[in-house]
Amino acid sequence: MPELPEVESLAAFLRGHATGHVVARADAASFSVLKTFDPPLTSLSGQMITEVGRHGKFLDIVTDQGLHLIMHLARAGWLRWRDELPTAPPKPGKSPLAFRLRLDDGSGFDLTEQGTHKRLAVYLVRDPAEVPGVATLGPDPLAADFTADTLASLLAGRRMQVKGVLRDQRIIAGIGNAYSDEVLHAAKMSPFKIAASMTPDDVATLYNAIKTTLREAVERSAGLAAADLKGEKKSGLRVHARAGQACPVCGDTIKEVSFADSSLQYCPTCQTGGKPLADRRLSRLLK
Ligand SMILES: [Zn+2]
Repeated sequence: MPELPEVESLAAFLRGHATGHVVARADAASFSVLKTFDPPLTSLSGQMITEVGRHGKFLDIVTDQGLHLIMHLARAGWLRWRDELPTAPPKPGKSPLAFRLRLDDGSGFDLTEQGTHKRLAVYLVRDPAEVPGVATLGPDPLAADFTADTLASLLAGRRMQVKGVLRDQRIIAGIGNAYSDEVLHAAKMSPFKIAASMTPDDVATLYNAIKTTLREAVERSAGLAAADLKGEKKSGLRVHARAGQACPVCGDTIKEVSFADSSLQYCPTCQTGGKPLADRRLSRLLK
């Protein structure tokens, strides 16, 4: 799933390629991908793109008439830019193509989604706050006003494991399963540490890990074409999706444990004092 660094880079890519262009047409390949009906998608035609922004993991294309085309790529979605888009509008069916935006010079992009669980979502609104997932977003960790005090106030009193806090879009915007693993590895912190139990030193360490990990990921992907971002994300990850491999910091074997609806990866030596985390799903089954 694209997270903050990839969405930030996609926004920068689109800013460079689409800003100043007029939308020729926008087409959704299925009823389910478009989550709004007023204004209609056809109203985008003829509007000029003036800005491309990001809210958490949402992309936001802004037009000169004040419309926002907001896109959430979900778990298996991606944006594919083409200098020459096919002229035929997308056909509904089993193809991964979910949405197509065509610009005045014939360039544009496709949103695609692999798999059978279709979660990719597109919204056309007058105000980003009309999108429920945007309205409830927590603060952006890359924003200048996201300070160590901001993080401390988000963690204070929360009886939640830090892994869950980092992933919760309503608490902090833009970090998902992959970068929460990376942040916690950089912070040398157990994913199961309870937020409310953190000392000021823990908070400062976590804060620096969040800023550094996300900034480095954004820098690595800056200037890459949209098509190359996915590969860059994978190669830049140190622990996420690397169970069984050697930790690049200490050489210990990266381990995996189930968490919520998926799993997390961590280094026992770097993060949990050498002890493997108990797989609660497994121990529950054994009881
Ligand atoms: Zn390690």
